[in-house]
Amino acid sequence: MFKFSLQRHARLGNLARRQLSTLVSQQIRSRPVVASCQRLAQRERQLVPLRQIALRLYSQESAAAYANTQTDDSPASLYNITRFEDLSKLGVDERIIRAITVDMKYDNMTEVQSLTINPALKGIDLVAQAKTGTGKTLGFLVPVFQRLITADPSLASPQHRRDASSQDIRAIILSPTRELAEQIGVEARKLARHTGIVVQTAVGGTRKREAMFKMQREGCDVLVATPGRLQDILSDPSTKVDAPKIQSFVLDEADRMLDVGFADAIRDIVDLLPPISQVDRQTLLFSATIPRDVVHLAKSMVKTDNFDFVQTINPDETPTHARVPQHLVSTKGYENWFPAVLEIADQAIKDAKSDPDALPFKAILFFSNTATVQFANRVFKNTPLGHRMTGMPIFDIHSKLSQDVRTRNAEAFRRAQTGILVSSDVTARGMDFPNVSHVIQIGLPPDRDQYIHRVGRTGRAGKSGEGWLILAEEEIREARARLPGLPIKPNHAIKSASYTLGEGTPSPEVAKYFEDVSKAYQRTPRDLFAAVYNALLGQKFGKGLDVEDCVRLLNNWCTKALGWEETPAIPPASARNRGLDRVSGIRIGFDNYERESDDRRGGSFNSFDRRGGGFGSNDRRGGGFSSSGGRGGGFDSGSRFNSRDRRGGGDPFARRSSSDFESRGRQPSRASF
Ligand code: ADP
Ligand code: MG
Repeated sequence: MFKFSLQRHARLGNLARRQLSTLVSQQIRSRPVVASCQRLAQRERQLVPLRQIALRLYSQESAAAYANTQTDDSPASLYNITRFEDLSKLGVDERIIRAITVDMKYDNMTEVQSLTINPALKGIDLVAQAKTGTGKTLGFLVPVFQRLITADPSLASPQHRRDASSQDIRAIILSPTRELAEQIGVEARKLARHTGIVVQTAVGGTRKREAMFKMQREGCDVLVATPGRLQDILSDPSTKVDAPKIQSFVLDEADRMLDVGFADAIRDIVDLLPPISQVDRQTLLFSATIPRDVVHLAKSMVKTDNFDFVQTINPDETPTHARVPQHLVSTKGYENWFPAVLEIADQAIKDAKSDPDALPFKAILFFSNTATVQFANRVFKNTPLGHRMTGMPIFDIHSKLSQDVRTRNAEAFRRAQTGILVSSDVTARGMDFPNVSHVIQIGLPPDRDQYIHRVGRTGRAGKSGEGWLILAEEEIREARARLPGLPIKPNHAIKSASYTLGEGTPSPEVAKYFEDVSKAYQRTPRDLFAAVYNALLGQKFGKGLDVEDCVRLLNNWCTKALGWEETPAIPPASARNRGLDRVSGIRIGFDNYERESDDRRGGSFNSFDRRGGGFGSNDRRGGGFSSSGGRGGGFDSGSRFNSRDRRGGGDPFARRSSSDFESRGRQPSRASF
C-alpha cells in the first residue's frame, strides 16, 4: 500500500511537471513574495517590496503602522488594503467585516492576510506561505466566505440557514488533524455568525451517522474536514452529502496534505468533485512550510495559468519567529530529561511570579511518539508539578485517545491559564492554544519542518514565548544535521541536565528534581516504559545517531533511573525483523506486564494517585533517587551499558564537522548550535 501511494505520489509529480511551463516554474522560484501568473492583472499590482515585508514583524502595532502608510483610494492601494474595515471597498459584505472588527476585535490585517485576501477575492488560486501564528486561517476564510456570498447573495442573510442543504456544499476546507479541523470550524462559525452560511465539521474518530444526521438536518455550505472522513462521506451516496456546485477548495497545512500520507486521499477527493472544466472552483493552499519537494505537487493542484504564490517568508530569513528564543539543553542521558523539564517549569513559574509582564507557565511538551507521550503524561502527573491541589493541570493528546477525550483535553488546555499539554505531533500543526509560554521538545524532532511547526505553537499573534529542545548529548550531532539554519542556542543553565546520575552529590535542588521523578516512575505502570523503550528503538536514526547509541541511552535510563534489574525484552521474531537481534545491549525474550486500558490511561487529568504504580517491590531498589534507594543511585557503573564512551564526552558544541550538516534546497546548510 505504501508502495502504491508512493507511485501515486510520483504520478502526481509527473502530472505537475507536464502541466507547468518552464516559465511558470522559473517565476515561482525567483519571485519570493508574490509570484503571479495572471498576465493581465499583473500590471495593476503594486507588489509590496520583499524587504519591507521581511523586516516587518507581525503584531497589532506593526500591522497598524503598516496600515497607516496606505491612505488613498487608488486601485493600487485598494489592492494593498490592510484594515479589515476597508474590505468594504472591495465589496466584502458588512456582516463578514462586523464579525472580524466587532466580535473578534481585529482592526488590522496581518501581512499574509493583506497579501492573500485581496487576490483571493478575485477568485484566483493561491499557494501561500507565512510563519506560524500569523493569521492564515482568516486569510483563506474571508475570501472563501465572500465569494460564496457574491455567487449567491441569499447566503448573506441569516434566513438562508433554513434552506441550506447538505447536498449543495459550496466550500471544502481540509486539515491534516481532527483538532485543527475543529479549530478552523470554530473560527469559521464566528466569521459566519451574522450571515446565513452554515459551517459543519466532519472528522474521523467521531460517530459518522450522527454527523451525517446533523448535516442533513441543518444543511452545510462550508465543510471543514479531515481527508479520510471526507473521502468516506463523499464516496457514499447514502450520506446525502454532495458538492455539485463547489466553489472553493482549501488545503490548510498544505505541504502535509500533499505529503505521501495524504496525497492519495486528496487525489481521490478531487476525483469525487465536479471537474473544474465544468464547475469552476478556486483552490487555496496555505502553510508555514512548503518544502521544495512538495512545491511541484502544490502547483499540480492549482490553475497554472491563473494563480499567485504568496510568500511572506524571505527564504534567507529564519522561518521561526525572531521573538521566540530557542534554547537547546544537552543532557547527560535520557534519565535527565524529566528532571530538566521540572527545572525549566520551576524556573518559569518563579519568573512569572516575579515579573507581572511574563506569561504564566503554560507549556506544550512534544514527543515524537505516542508511547513516550503516555509515559511522560503519567510520570508528570505523579510529580508535585501535576499535583491535584498544589500543582497544575496536565493534559495529554495523542492518537490512542478517543476523539472525545482528545477534543476535551484540547479545549481544557485552550482555556487553562496555566498547565501542561503532553502531546504527540497531532497538535504540532496549526493549533492555536492561546498564551502558550513554552514549547518544550524532548528527544529528536523527526525533521526541521516539524520542529518549526511545534515551536510555532508559542509566540502566536504577536505574543512572546520560548522554545526549548532537550536532547541527550549523543543526539546533538544528529540534531545539527536535522535542524540547520535555525536560531537555536545552547543553554547551560539547567543544572539537572548536566548531572550524571549516580555520581557525586548534586545540589539539593537537582537532587529534588531527580527524586520527584524517581518517585513518579514508581507510580507508573511498567508496561508504559517498555512501550517507550520499543518506540524509541524504532525512531528514525541518521548519520549522527545510530541504534547502538539509542540502546545505551535507553538502558541507562531504565537501569539507573527507573531501577529495573533488566531492560525490557524484545521478542525474538520482532528483534529479527527489526534488525535488533545483533545489537549489543538488547535483551531478547518475553516480558509479561499487566496492561491497563487506554481509557484509564488517558481519560482524565491530574490523576495523581490513580494507581499505585506497577513496579514490583523487588524492582524498586535500583532507582537512583527512589526513597528507599537513597542518593547513591543503584546503577552498577561497571555494567556494559555504561562502558562505551559518549562520543568523547566534553562539550558537544565543540565538535562540529562539515559532514554533520545536510543541505536542503535553499535552506541554510548549517546548524547554529
Ligand atoms: P496561522 O494559521 O498562521 O498559524 P491562525 O490563523 O491560527 O495562525 O491565527 C493565530 C492567532 O491570531 C489566532 O488566535 C487568530 O485569531 C489571531 N489573529 C488572526 N488574525 C489576526 C489579526 N489580524 N490581528 C490579530 N490577531 C489575529
Ligand atoms: Mg493555521
